[in-house]
Amino acid sequence: MTAPTQRRQLAVIGQTRDPRPGLSGLAPAELEAWFVARGERPYRARQVADAMWRGVATDAAAIATLPAAVREAVDGEFRFDTIVSTEVRPADGGLTEKALHRLSDGALIESVLMHYPARGAQRERHTLCISSQAGCAVGCPFCATGELGFTRDLETAEIVDQVRHAARSLAHNGQRLTNVVFMGMGEPLLNLDNVLAAVQALADPARLGLGARHVTVSTSGVVPGIRRLTALGPQFTLAVSLHAARDSLRDALVPLNRRWPVADVVDAARDHARATGRRITYEVTMISGINDTPQDAEALAALLAGDHAHVNLIPMNPVAHTPWTASPMGVIEQFAARLRASGISTTIRRNRGQDIGAACGQLAAERAGEPAAAAVSRRRERIVRESAAALRGERSREPLPVGVGE
Ligand code: SAH
Ligand code: SF4
Repeated sequence: MTAPTQRRQLAVIGQTRDPRPGLSGLAPAELEAWFVARGERPYRARQVADAMWRGVATDAAAIATLPAAVREAVDGEFRFDTIVSTEVRPADGGLTEKALHRLSDGALIESVLMHYPARGAQRERHTLCISSQAGCAVGCPFCATGELGFTRDLETAEIVDQVRHAARSLAHNGQRLTNVVFMGMGEPLLNLDNVLAAVQALADPARLGLGARHVTVSTSGVVPGIRRLTALGPQFTLAVSLHAARDSLRDALVPLNRRWPVADVVDAARDHARATGRRITYEVTMISGINDTPQDAEALAALLAGDHAHVNLIPMNPVAHTPWTASPMGVIEQFAARLRASGISTTIRRNRGQDIGAACGQLAAERAGEPAAAAVSRRRERIVRESAAALRGERSREPLPVGVGE
């Protein structure tokens, strides 16, 4: 695998993080306690929360309901917004808006806002796809974020502030955010404490007030994380990125399969579905000639037969520096038909925003600069070599990526 030192940097080296915690990462009781400790009335916390979630203020200094001295004190202690700047690129005729956010240390993360107009009985929806980490350590070879490697976990407020950004932009048009999916950069179950705190903020009626059913967290298969969620009870909808039912192939497509093999992942997901009564969604990115064969459809049908599960088949978004492309639609349809024949409910999804690279990580990768030609060709050769071995049914002998699975 590519050594981390050869990887392009997502953060501006030397730029330090603003040490003030982000306001939106604080639970209301924590903020209230801070005000009380300063001899202020507890309702000040409510005024700050209103400004954060419903107001037009862009920094603490502009919260009109607070006396000037209190505003200054809040500003000295906390960051009103952890996102320093954002560049938005529209696509799909305005139905998709891709945002590249810069954080205080220069790290770049992405979020994607997708608008779905009303259709028949289905009301209009506005879904935001957010990031949980800057980069990702898992290193799936078809993913732009995976190629960038891991920079750092996001703080709770950095996760929440992506949502505030989108909610503000929707409010300008009299619209409301209806769904949030953790399918941007990063592996949410490897930053689970902050993801759980962020989901709590999104679900709290005093903050965003999004029903927990309208939040989906996608994982590449961190088994201890899934089990921890099961013990907590239903928190949100869980999606599992499966991509392959056979260990040899999944070792190559999702490198942490070498630590938690596919049978363990599906066992954990099954227990989760049983304990919470919530259906699991499995994601399969369809890659031509790699994981879309009749043998793969057969293996997946056998693996999930009889489960309370749903499968989404997603044509691979083209990303730079991979030798792979999306499966043709006819092949995906045959794959879906095989799963449905086993009673597994299956949807074929179209990836949004391909013209601006909506598979998360692509804008950040563009900013990180083009890697040296030699590094690109080494990467391609490695992907071809590993997938060829996988297709012959050989388990991977590659080491686990650094930072996953300890
Ligand atoms: N790390 C988590 C969540 C972020 S990735 C996970 O892997 O589940 C969110 C989804 O985007 C995953 O299902 C992932 O497989 C998919 N994805 C990544 N790169 C893609 C690409 N080039 N084309 C299509 N889907 C992609
Ligand atoms: Fe990480 Fe998910 Fe991309 Fe894999 S697909 S590298 S787990 S972000």
